[in-house]
Amino acid sequence: MESMLETALSQFHGAADHLGLNDEHREYLTSFKTAFHTEFPVEMDDGKFRVYQGFRVHHNVARGPAKGGMRYASHVSMDEVKAMAMLMTWKCAVVNVPFGGAKGGVLVDPRNLSQNELQNLTRRFTSELEPIIGPDKDIPAPDMGTNPQVMAWIMDTYSMSHGYTVAGVVTGKPVALGGSAGRFEATGRGLLYVLQEHLRADGGVAGKTFAVQGFGNVGGVVSKQVQMAGGCITHLSDVDIAITSPTGIDVASAFNFVQSGGTLTGWNEQHGHHDVISHASILTAPVDVLIPAAVEGVLTEDNAGDVQARLILEAANGPTTTEADAIFLERGIEVIPDIVANAGGVTVSYFEWVQARQYIRWTEERVNEELRRLITTAYQGVAGRRTAARSKASLRDAANWVAIERVVEAMTLRGIYP
Ligand code: NAD
Repeated sequence: MESMLETALSQFHGAADHLGLNDEHREYLTSFKTAFHTEFPVEMDDGKFRVYQGFRVHHNVARGPAKGGMRYASHVSMDEVKAMAMLMTWKCAVVNVPFGGAKGGVLVDPRNLSQNELQNLTRRFTSELEPIIGPDKDIPAPDMGTNPQVMAWIMDTYSMSHGYTVAGVVTGKPVALGGSAGRFEATGRGLLYVLQEHLRADGGVAGKTFAVQGFGNVGGVVSKQVQMAGGCITHLSDVDIAITSPTGIDVASAFNFVQSGGTLTGWNEQHGHHDVISHASILTAPVDVLIPAAVEGVLTEDNAGDVQARLILEAANGPTTTEADAIFLERGIEVIPDIVANAGGVTVSYFEWVQARQYIRWTEERVNEELRRLITTAYQGVAGRRTAARSKASLRDAANWVAIERVVEAMTLRGIYP
């Protein structure tokens, strides 16, 4: 199967061919400024220690400090982190926030650690990262398996070694520590704003049916947002269970249950009582819109031909392989790509960073208004760019053209320091 890095590189080269990018720019943009790998010990609750692997990659910083999530998962690798750092460069450029791309992670299943062990791991990893992170260098944020509490520990560890509070070193912090109003919902809300803009001339969100894969921070919030906008979630899954209801699943109730420490399986047993279906059938469900919001590489040449939705909104990073993309383009299935669709998280992270640097607080109304403005403008720019190209291109192609051009412009203006 195609790796996520192979997918990212193949998408880049496709866009670079269209733009006629020269060899130097291609070489520069397929290399990584920093690729940091560390193996570090963590003290466990039984007094023994275990060694973990951690990664942090900066792809390109021509447009500003590196920005990207930190994931704790049992499949993290250098290649995966590189691919996602590259995606972050394009995402920040397409939504036009002044950051370059980064990503990081630790190879660990956080569900197997106690809170104390999680804290020890985070603090030790942060101290290993000390030389390469900072509010003007690289600003981590939550991703799979991490959350505002983990960001608070990163901020505290970094601040302790500097002797003063450095709130701008991470985003996605708890609101009590300078986290932005609306940051937790930002990715899901941004997904809704993009969807609303895309469907403006096509009847809007209300009355449409949805299948959502993944019920975490992104999948849970986007499901709730879609339901509040009048959409009907008929198919839903997390890592343990997939359920369906022809009249719609009460995702607000299910998400509250999960947020309070329960599971989707537990909610369905106690409240939903919906039919349990296979995980694979979520992706090929008979719905108007499919939202992959879990992990990468789930839409492949093996299932793309069976997808029934006419629209795919990429909430996860990298859920579609290159082969699947080609099949969707051929079948006339529209894909709103990750680097536009899920850019709400990094957009509000940018607002949080601005607030931290200026020691001010924005209201949630202001955050949401600015988010809608930036992400809608980004979507319109991409859609307009495709129309102007007058060729059979996907929205992903157009998004990559816009992003790569902006990064190349910044690199060219800065020049190469001897
Ligand atoms: P999360 O850890 O909060 O949730 C992940 C969800 O996916 C969980 O419900 C889990 O049970 C489910 N899942 C895992 N494997 C699955 C599988 N094989 N089938 C079905 N469900 C599965 O993570 P998250 O923060 O919601 O991130 C999800 C995706 O969105 C990732 O690709 C991440 O990179 C991307 N993303 C996150 C943010 C953010 O702000 N958190 C922003 C942009 C993109």
